Amino acid sequence: MDSGMSLAIIVALSILGGFFKVLGGTIYGSRASFVDALTSIANALAAIISVYFYSKSALPPDKDHHYGHYKLGYAGIVVTLIAYGFVAGLVVSKLSKFEPYIVEIMAPVMACLGALSYSMAIFLSKRIGSFLSAYSAFTFSELIEAGVVIASSTIGALYSYIVDYMGAVVLTMYIFMELFKTTKSLVMGISDIAPPASYLDSVKEFIESRGFIVNEIKVRKFSDKLYHGDVSVKPRDAHTTYSDLSRRVKELKEELVKELKLDASIEIA
Ligand SMILES: [Zn+2]
Repeated sequence: MDSGMSLAIIVALSILGGFFKVLGGTIYGSRASFVDALTSIANALAAIISVYFYSKSALPPDKDHHYGHYKLGYAGIVVTLIAYGFVAGLVVSKLSKFEPYIVEIMAPVMACLGALSYSMAIFLSKRIGSFLSAYSAFTFSELIEAGVVIASSTIGALYSYIVDYMGAVVLTMYIFMELFKTTKSLVMGISDIAPPASYLDSVKEFIESRGFIVNEIKVRKFSDKLYHGDVSVKPRDAHTTYSDLSRRVKELKEELVKELKLDASIEIA
């Protein structure tokens, strides 16, 4: 089986898994399954849009983005937040109407079928490997959620809907945890955060090994693939000529990008 075929089967299995959850959460009455179904849909949407913007972020600089397109990668995180936030609102509105309801025994059956579909998708993604191993890790949390749904909706169907409701509350808390984690990583990502001190030391060492004295370094994280910086240096040899200095600075700039992923403006002071 070639990987294109496997990929199509993985997508089909994920959609099928989502479909079983929606059935369990709507016509078979499980609130836990309802929450699980909505997070799966939000996840799938966020994953597709993240992959799209991740590919855009690799585009080279152009007329309207002089520093490259790295930051377009954040669009995936923003969309994830919107999708999860929307689901969180829907779920809280559904759960806040606290009234007795009936969980049919078909609800846990649907949850089991959903889990089975996702397990097969994970198994196939692991076999293909490469970038799909990230998918299989992501889908693994789907399986934990499925476990919560199966347990709570089974007891909910056999004994009391309250257990199913509790399962829904646990999954809702998980959504808010994800929202918090994702927001934090977005805020950190766009805050021009400085790299670790060890990285700055290696930049300083690298520049000094090229015959310069470092006056000042300012570096901010631009994306996972690139740092941006302003560096103020002076040549160790005070009698160097202008053309020699200009050539060395140009080389240093190129080497910093290549060796340390640092796109820096270099000032002679
Ligand atoms: Zn552009």
